[in-house]
Amino acid sequence: MRLVLVGPPGAGKGTQAEFIADRFGIPKISTGDIFRSNVSGGTELGKQAKEYMDAGDLVPDEVTNAMVRDRLAEPDAVSGFLLDGFPRNVSQADELNGMLASLDVALSVVLDLDVDHEEVVNRLAGRRTCKKCGHVVHVEPDAVEGGACPKCGGELYRRDDDAPDTVRHRLEVYDKQTAPLIGFYRDAGLLVAIDAFGTVEDVTERAISVLAQYAES
Ligand code: AMP
Repeated sequence: MRLVLVGPPGAGKGTQAEFIADRFGIPKISTGDIFRSNVSGGTELGKQAKEYMDAGDLVPDEVTNAMVRDRLAEPDAVSGFLLDGFPRNVSQADELNGMLASLDVALSVVLDLDVDHEEVVNRLAGRRTCKKCGHVVHVEPDAVEGGACPKCGGELYRRDDDAPDTVRHRLEVYDKQTAPLIGFYRDAGLLVAIDAFGTVEDVTERAISVLAQYAES
């Protein structure tokens, strides 16, 4: 299965991506995770991305597209993948189509996690991310930072771009640049939307039940 997840920041893409990728045995390719590990590793790519990420803006397309092109060429992505956070605008979607055409493959489906902005702002205020493995947990919005990741024991922190002002800006960026992808993929006959309200388990169940028909045997 070659799957793209779309939805606003805080829709639960990263969390659902982990479950869906596990369930269908495909690698999860999260551009946000790749950027964050490059920022913490102090690489050249991380240096290029950091200022955009801190501001809640998109990293320039040339940088992002090149990174995804390299990642899709790795052996584990040959027979399927889940893209989380890419594409983020129509130009990246065009570029992705070109990358896939050159590999002689096509997307199976685009899953839109549908959730309103008010819910997103609440969720992100209490989101904590593991510094080590990227796992996400939710706490009370005004809880202090710290604590250990339930998955790997790493340190939990609030992402700089989850600060309320930056979240509002990220939502504007989403509305302006990313939301048009929904029409783009609907026109291509690839879009399936699910309601992303409810518990993580409920949303996972909805996702897996609509995606099952796209899984190749
Ligand atoms: P995410 O973890 O998906 O919320 O991404 C965190 C940040 O990484 C975004 O706010 C952007 O600054 C950057 N980023 C992630 N994916 C992309 C992308 N496809 N294009 C441009 N910037 C991206």
